[in-house]
Formats: sequence, structure tokens, C-alpha cells
Amino acid sequence: MLIELIPNLSYQAATELIERLEWMGFHVVRQGNDTLTLVSGVDKLVNMEGLATLPGIAKIQPLKSRFKLASRESKSADTQINIKNVTIGGGELFVIAGPCSIESEAQLLACATVAKNAGAQALRGGAYKPRTSPYEYQGMGVEGFKLLSKVANLHGLISVSEIMDTNQMEEALPYIDILQIGARNIQNYSLLKALGKIDKPILLKRGFATTYQELLMAAEYIMVGGNPNVILCERGIRTFETYTRNTLDLNAVPSLQEMTHLPVIVDPSHGTGVRSLVPIMARAAVAAGANGILVETHPHPDLSISDATQTISFASFTKMMHEIKAVHCLVKSFTN
Ligand code: PEP
Ligand code: MN
Repeated sequence: MLIELIPNLSYQAATELIERLEWMGFHVVRQGNDTLTLVSGVDKLVNMEGLATLPGIAKIQPLKSRFKLASRESKSADTQINIKNVTIGGGELFVIAGPCSIESEAQLLACATVAKNAGAQALRGGAYKPRTSPYEYQGMGVEGFKLLSKVANLHGLISVSEIMDTNQMEEALPYIDILQIGARNIQNYSLLKALGKIDKPILLKRGFATTYQELLMAAEYIMVGGNPNVILCERGIRTFETYTRNTLDLNAVPSLQEMTHLPVIVDPSHGTGVRSLVPIMARAAVAAGANGILVETHPHPDLSISDATQTISFASFTKMMHEIKAVHCLVKSFTN
């Protein structure tokens, strides 16, 4: 349920109203200056008319959407996430670049230098890797978080790394600016609940077979826990096609942007699995209106410990950055 507050309601009056609603058993979330979203306890409500007469309320409206907090219906303005002087979900294109797996400080330093010079804002690298085979490289663990943090800070970049469970979340918190939840953990509900309790942005990747609605319900778990800063990432889904690793579903960009106010970025690296296609699909993603791009880079792509076939060279990355910036300018000129 959406509650529209009386215009210019004082802080004191709004606080009293929220306390009263909470006392009545509602879970109340303030998403904008003049709206409150009630996300639970609604079943217990017996007297809607009585509710409407509470002081401070201008209008009450039922929310049709299942994802109450993530929906455009509950908050029409785009969510903008501010971190280290970067705004994600605003007018700026947000680019995350770096290796699939953290391998060494030298590898990260090389990736960071190129990322920064080309205009990316974030450095990625996996310290804990969700690998299909238990015999494949599983990552450096917490030492990787420390290296990523050191190198990202040196270059004024935001650090982004994946966690797969709550123990890894605790390890990452002192070092990592944005915690990534990978495709395999999108429905790890205990992890999603724990992410609701922290104050770092979450990069939530779509699962191999996750619908937009399921992706948004996963975001809802984090948001209802108290963390509104969720970035959604389309990274390809599994289809009958085998030429590419996944099928990058660019329908997701405008569809999700209609459904939600959260920022939507695209990962053409996992979305294609094919190096030659990555820059082209990055351009396509920006043309579709994506708020950002996540891309895997490496000083020697063929020597990458993981995901070598989809990892692009520094030259290719730098060229791609020029191209996506140009496409982004053009898209902005159409939508402004
Ligand atoms: C990754 O970003 O390295 C990764 C494992 O991604 P995904 O969860 O999309 O497969
Ligand atoms: Mn990867």
C-alpha cells in the first residue's frame, strides 16, 4: 500500500505517523519525501477508512505490484546510488572493469590503470569464484579482497567483488565497496536477507533462468531488510543456443526500467562468453538504455585463470569505452 503524505508535512508529524503505523503492525518504508510504502501487515488491516483519517495522510493507494519496494509504482523517480563521488543510476554511465578472478597484484594494477584511464569508475575481481567444477580455481579468498581494495583505492576506483555466503560477506565488508551476488545465488534467501542488514550497495545478477519478476523479488528481499541500494545486472540467460555461452537478453533493460526504479546494468562478458562479441553487445546494451556495463579484462586475456574466452584485451576495452561513451551521449540526446 502506498501512502501519500500531506504536502510539506513536518518531520515531527511524519515521525509520529510512522510510529503509529508501526504500532498498528505495519512495516513502513519511506522511499520519497512525500510517500510511505507499507509492505507487510496489510493482511491484518481491518479498517482502511480509519487508516485514511490518521493525521498526515493525504491519500492511500493499494500497490498492485508484488515487488512493493522495487516497483516504479511505489517510487517513480530513478534510484540514484552515490558512492565515492560516483552516481549510479543518474545521467552518468557506470563502468565496472577487471578480471574474472583476482590472480596477482600486478594483474590488478594493470587492469586498474587501464580502467581508470579509459574512464571506468569501478574495478572488479573475483576473490571467491563460483565454479561449475570443484576442481577448478576457487579464488584467492580474503587475500583477494585485500588486494582489490588496495589497488582500487590507489586509483580512486570503486571495488566490486562477489560473495557466495554470509561468512564471505563479513570478510568482504571492510574491503569491498559493492558486493556482487552472482547468477547462482540470486535465490539464496538467507544471503539476500543478510544483505538487507548492511549499508553497502549490492550488485544483483540475474540467474540463468530467472524471470524479471523473480529478479525483482530477490531485490525486494534486500530492500525490505533495510538496504535500498540494489543495482540489477542482466548477464545472459540459458537458451537452446550453444554458439554463445548465454543469450544476452537486452529486452531486460527497458523492461526492468519500466518495472523498477533501480539502476540496471549489463554484463556482455558472461552474456556472450565470446570475446569478439563483448564490445558490440556493450554498445547494444548502452543503446538499449543500460545505466552501466560490467566487463572482464586482463593484461593477457588468453592467460586468464577463469573465463579467458570472454575476457577482452586492454586495447579492445579502451576502444569499447570510446564507443559506448559516444552511444551513451546519443541515447541521452534522444531521451532529454
Ligand atoms: C562473475 O561476474 O565473475 C560471475 C561469476 O558472474 P555470473 O554470476 O553472472 O556468472
Ligand atoms: Mn567471470
